[in-house]
Amino acid sequence: MSSTDSVSRFKLKRTLETLASKEGRGTELISLYVPPDRRIHEVMTNLREEYGTASNIKSRVTRKNVQEAIEKVQQRLKLFKTPPPKGLVIFCGAIPYGAPGNEKMEIYTLEPPEKINVYFYRCDSRFHLEPLFDMMREKSTYALLILDSAEAILATLRGQRMSILKEFTSGIPGKHRAGGQSARRFERIREAAVNDYFKRIARHTNDMLGQIPDLRGLILGGPGPTKYDFAEGDYLNYMLKQKVIATLDTSYVSEEGVKEIVVRSQDLLKGVRYMEEKKIVQKFLYELGHETGLASYGETQVRRHLNAGLVDTLLLAEKLDRLHVLMKCKTCGDTEDALLARSAFTKFEQELLSRQCKKCGNTTLVIESTQSLLDEFVEIAEKSSVNLEVISTETEEGIMLLESFGGIAAILRYRPSS
Ligand SMILES: [Zn+2]
Repeated sequence: MSSTDSVSRFKLKRTLETLASKEGRGTELISLYVPPDRRIHEVMTNLREEYGTASNIKSRVTRKNVQEAIEKVQQRLKLFKTPPPKGLVIFCGAIPYGAPGNEKMEIYTLEPPEKINVYFYRCDSRFHLEPLFDMMREKSTYALLILDSAEAILATLRGQRMSILKEFTSGIPGKHRAGGQSARRFERIREAAVNDYFKRIARHTNDMLGQIPDLRGLILGGPGPTKYDFAEGDYLNYMLKQKVIATLDTSYVSEEGVKEIVVRSQDLLKGVRYMEEKKIVQKFLYELGHETGLASYGETQVRRHLNAGLVDTLLLAEKLDRLHVLMKCKTCGDTEDALLARSAFTKFEQELLSRQCKKCGNTTLVIESTQSLLDEFVEIAEKSSVNLEVISTETEEGIMLLESFGGIAAILRYRPSS
C-alpha cells in the first residue's frame, strides 16, 4: 500500500465513522450509490420518481426533509457530467442537533476506493455505509502453504477470498521398510525422497508467489513437524523466507487445512498489523535511544521538521484526541494558538471570556477555528511525501507513543542542521 493510499483510506475511514454516528429523526436519510457507467440523466430520472413517491409520506416534517434532501442530491449531481472512474456515493439528509426543529441538512459526496457495481438508492433513518466499509477491509494477499510428509497445498487469501494454487503429493515411502532392505539404505532413500518433495514444493511456491506483487506474508501450516523441516531447510528463496509471518499447527493438510487457517486468519492478520506497528515505534525508539538525531516528537518539533521537509515517517496515535484552536483578538486582530484535550473544550470556551489578549490585554479573544490535531497532521502528511503510519493503542509501543510522546512522533530522513 502506498503512503497516499494509506492517507486516503484513513480519511475515508474517519468520514465513514462520522457518518455511521449520524441518525435521522425519521426515515429521511438518503444513500445513493452510482456505478461509473450509469448516466447522470438516468439517475436524475430515478430521483424525480423517488421525489414523487416521497409525496405519499404521512409525516409532514419527514416528507419535507426527504424531498429537500432529494433536491439537494440533484443539485450536487448537476456538478458531474459523468460519474468519476470508480463511481460516486452521495449521502444527504436532515441531521438532528438537539431539540426538534434544529436539524441541519448535510450532504457528503465520496469517491469510493473501489468500483461500484450496483446502483443503489435508499431512504432510511441512517446512512447505508456497508458497501464502503467492505471496500475498506484488508485486501492484501497472503499465501498459505500447508504440508506434511504425504501431501501439500498452496493457496492464497485475499480479503475473505481463498484460491487454491496447487496441490502436491509426496510419493515418499511409508515409515516401514520392505523386508530384506537394510535400515540404512531405506533411510537414505527416504531422505532423498523428502528432499525431492521439498524441492518440488519450493520450486512451484517460489515461482507462483513471486508473481504476486502485493504479497504481504506467507503462513506455513500442517499437522506435524514437516513444516518446520521445510521452513528451516534451504528450500524457499530468501524473499519468501522473510515473508513467513506464522507457522501454525492444523489438523488437516488439504483444503480443510486451508479453511482452518482462514478461520484463524482475521486475528492473525490483525496481529500482523500490530507487529508492523510495534516495529515502526521501535525504530523510532531506537533512533531516540541511540541519539542518532533522527527521532523527533511532540507537536511543535514534529511540525517544524515536517515544514522543513525532514520527515521520512510520521507516526500518529489513532487515539490522539486533541484540538488545535485558533483564537483572534477582536480589538487588535492578534492571533493565538492553543492545544487542548477535546474533553476540556467547554471549560476552555468559558475561560476564554476572561482571557487577556497577549498583545493588547483586552478580554476580546474569540475562537476563529477549531480542528482535530490528528486531522491537521494527516493533512500535512498528505501534502508532503511523508510515510504516514497511524498507530493503534493495541500494543505497548502504541500506548507509549500516545502517552509518553504526545501521540506525534517522526523518524527523519537526515539530521537537522541546527
Ligand atoms: Zn488584542
